[in-house]
Amino acid sequence: MEFKVSELEREPIEFDLALPPGKVDLGDEAKQEGNLATSGLAEVIHEHRGPKDIVADIRLRGKFAGKFEVPCARCVEPVDIPLEAEFDLIFRPVGADSEAAERSITAPETEIGYYQRDSLLLEDVLREQVLLSLPVRTLCKPDCKGLCPRCGQNRNSQDCSCDEGPSDPRWEALSGLRSQIKSSKH
Ligand SMILES: [Zn+2]
Ligand SMILES: [Zn+2]
Repeated sequence: MEFKVSELEREPIEFDLALPPGKVDLGDEAKQEGNLATSGLAEVIHEHRGPKDIVADIRLRGKFAGKFEVPCARCVEPVDIPLEAEFDLIFRPVGADSEAAERSITAPETEIGYYQRDSLLLEDVLREQVLLSLPVRTLCKPDCKGLCPRCGQNRNSQDCSCDEGPSDPRWEALSGLRSQIKSSKH
C-alpha cells in the first residue's frame, strides 16, 4: 500500500490489511507464515521551519502481528517466532535534512525515517519493523547442540561418530600423563 503525500494532504488515511507472505520482502532473514495483519493511520504533519520553509512529514502510526520462521543460529532448523508490535514513525522527504544540522523533533518517542518521490510504501516500513522486532539470535532451544562441524549432522537428533573436535583440555592433560607413564616404563 502506497501513501502519497498529495493524498494525505487532503485527509489522513486509515489502513487495516492482511498481507499474504511475499508482500513484505524479508530476504533470507525470516519467512512469513500466514498473513501479516496490520492496521493504523497515515497523516501529513507540517514542520514549519521558516516562513517559506515548510516540510511535509508523513507520520505513520499502527501495529502489526504475524508469525515468522527464522533459522536456529546453531542448527539452522526453522523456529517459529510470533511477533506483535506497535510503531509510531515520522518520515521526512529525502533531502529535507541535508544541509541543516541535526534538528530535534518534538515528540521524543518517534523515530525518523525518509521517504522518496513523494510517497511511502507501507510494505517497506513493515519490512524494517519486522526485522527490527526479531530477536538478534534465535535458538530452537537454549541447549541446542548445533551441527557437527565435521559431518554436519544435527546433534540434537543423533550423535555422530566423528572424533570430537578440539578435545577437552582435561582429557588432553590425562593423555599427556599417560604417555609420560608409558615412556617412563621403557
Ligand atoms: Zn537449534
Ligand atoms: Zn560428525
